[in-house]
Amino acid sequence: MCGIVGYIGKQQAFPIIISGLKRLEYRGYDSSGVVTIDENLKVYKKKGKVSDLLEFVKDKDTKGTIGMGHTRWATHGEPNNVNAHPHTSQNGHFVIVHNGIIENYARLKKRLEARGYSFKSETDTEVLANLIEYIYLKGKISAEIAVRLALTKVIGAYGLVINCINEPDQLIAARKGSPLVIGIGEDEYFIASDATPIIEHTNSVIYLNNDNIAVIKRDQLTLKTIDDDKLIPKVQKLNLGIGEIEKNGYDHFMLKEIFEQPRSIMDTFRGRIAADLSEIRLGGLLDIMPKLIKAKRIIIIGCGTSWHAGLVGEYLFEDISRIPVEVEYASEFRYRNPVIYEDDVVIAISQSGETADTLAAISLAKEAKALVLGICNVVGSSIPRETDAGVYTHAGPEIGVASTKAFTAQVTVLTMMAILLGKERGTITNEEYLNLIKELTYIPEKIKTTLKHDDYYKHIASLYKNATNALYLGRGYFFPVALEGALKLKEISYIHAEGYPAAEMKHGPIALIDENMPVFVIATKDKSYDKIVSNIQEIKARNGKVIAIVTEGDTNIKSMANHVLEVPNAHPVVTALLTVIPFQLLSYHIAVMRNCNVDQPRNLAKSVTVE
Ligand code: GLU
Repeated sequence: MCGIVGYIGKQQAFPIIISGLKRLEYRGYDSSGVVTIDENLKVYKKKGKVSDLLEFVKDKDTKGTIGMGHTRWATHGEPNNVNAHPHTSQNGHFVIVHNGIIENYARLKKRLEARGYSFKSETDTEVLANLIEYIYLKGKISAEIAVRLALTKVIGAYGLVINCINEPDQLIAARKGSPLVIGIGEDEYFIASDATPIIEHTNSVIYLNNDNIAVIKRDQLTLKTIDDDKLIPKVQKLNLGIGEIEKNGYDHFMLKEIFEQPRSIMDTFRGRIAADLSEIRLGGLLDIMPKLIKAKRIIIIGCGTSWHAGLVGEYLFEDISRIPVEVEYASEFRYRNPVIYEDDVVIAISQSGETADTLAAISLAKEAKALVLGICNVVGSSIPRETDAGVYTHAGPEIGVASTKAFTAQVTVLTMMAILLGKERGTITNEEYLNLIKELTYIPEKIKTTLKHDDYYKHIASLYKNATNALYLGRGYFFPVALEGALKLKEISYIHAEGYPAAEMKHGPIALIDENMPVFVIATKDKSYDKIVSNIQEIKARNGKVIAIVTEGDTNIKSMANHVLEVPNAHPVVTALLTVIPFQLLSYHIAVMRNCNVDQPRNLAKSVTVE
């Protein structure tokens, strides 16, 4: 959820930790803190942003070549200075930073209180700090053993970095559920909750697996399981450029990521669509293809924007590959006692690959012996490791909390899968197969054309920036795009917005329409064009303001809508990838005009690793 950075080496730890925390701030940002270690622990914590912490620490002693920092996304206890991490144990032997949730913290806390412990904060994390210390002091054992024993008593999820002041020249890192990566330098190690703070220092990394504990000294790393079995660390090379994690001149990451889409979609194609456009090859699905072809049903699970991508997938798989599809919110699916058959294929979609509910839904599907596939962006994250097979979206790191390029990359993967399955199952002809591949590969250029209208989107944004409500309508492939458009507006501009299938408008939302209600309608040329034109008339008859997304050159809708936003003509199967672009940019500009924090909207976090 939030961010962890740790350092042990010969350099001063503080600047490394602060710059890492800034890179991670997008993950959670209600408070932050840092500890540097020499003869003693210097802990500084502050509610607010990393810049507030920096201001607070300005004149303080931050010396030390070991340290760790944290940006918090509160789960237990309000965001304030006391609840911020790092947390020290009661007698000051341990200091820890933690991502995740200790689910049995209340029980553990009671037991510790009975043994004389009292607590400064309301967090679950402090309970863990004290549990480790209690076990350490009682058993007179090493810090490493105390951590290991404490973790066997913990239920929940954690990414942890720990220091014991009596063994000052080492950090202990442990993982269950919340990711941790360790970067390897020369006589120095960097620890972080994802690779973004590490990349500027080294590209050799070790990803911790669940139940791994690493004991890290300046010149040595020992990796073990929670059962004390020694492991050989697997060193991997990061192929992430520093430019990919910076704003490259854009005002916000979200804007940069919107404009990156022509390229990020090409990256999603890369190696998957043959240069002569003669075939789609999805290497990650090769081994399971026979089972996938025979699927009786596909169940797609996701949360938020990934769920919207899943809905586009439903139309794609049913339309092109003629397989029945159900799309489920992971959080509902997992608690509903769902019926899953062995010949079902479950596709889990998640940008981060760490979404807690989606992971839990995957476990259910695996228990039922269904084939489980993943569509994720973050390489090496939990979902790709938990699933039988999958396809990475390769959209590059997405830093803006409101997902944009990850959505189009997910839809691109689903489109490639549906086309490939259609071919393999014989539900489309070879000619249709080749034509759909071609249409899909035209999309990056067509997105480029759409992005050229940005100034006009800005103008439209200025007209509607003070709206308090908005309606988004679409049919077929564009119903999920309407949902996604409404979500984008809600997330970053805090304007209430609803997405609806256009035909449903008459069953309720039409009552909301008056002269103050902007209605965004996707009305590109496809088989339901005439129907959507009627919907536009119905809105106009009630004085609603219609902003229609239309196919280039459509003069018919231009004469009835208040404004039209043109997208290039494209095959209906791939047009969702185009029609979402104006919505992303409109939301972006409206949010900027309303002085909202676009990259870090209130109350939201980039990857939702709590349930
Ligand atoms: N559960 C811990 C807390 O509330 C950690 C939350 C986080 O992952 O930031 O402090």
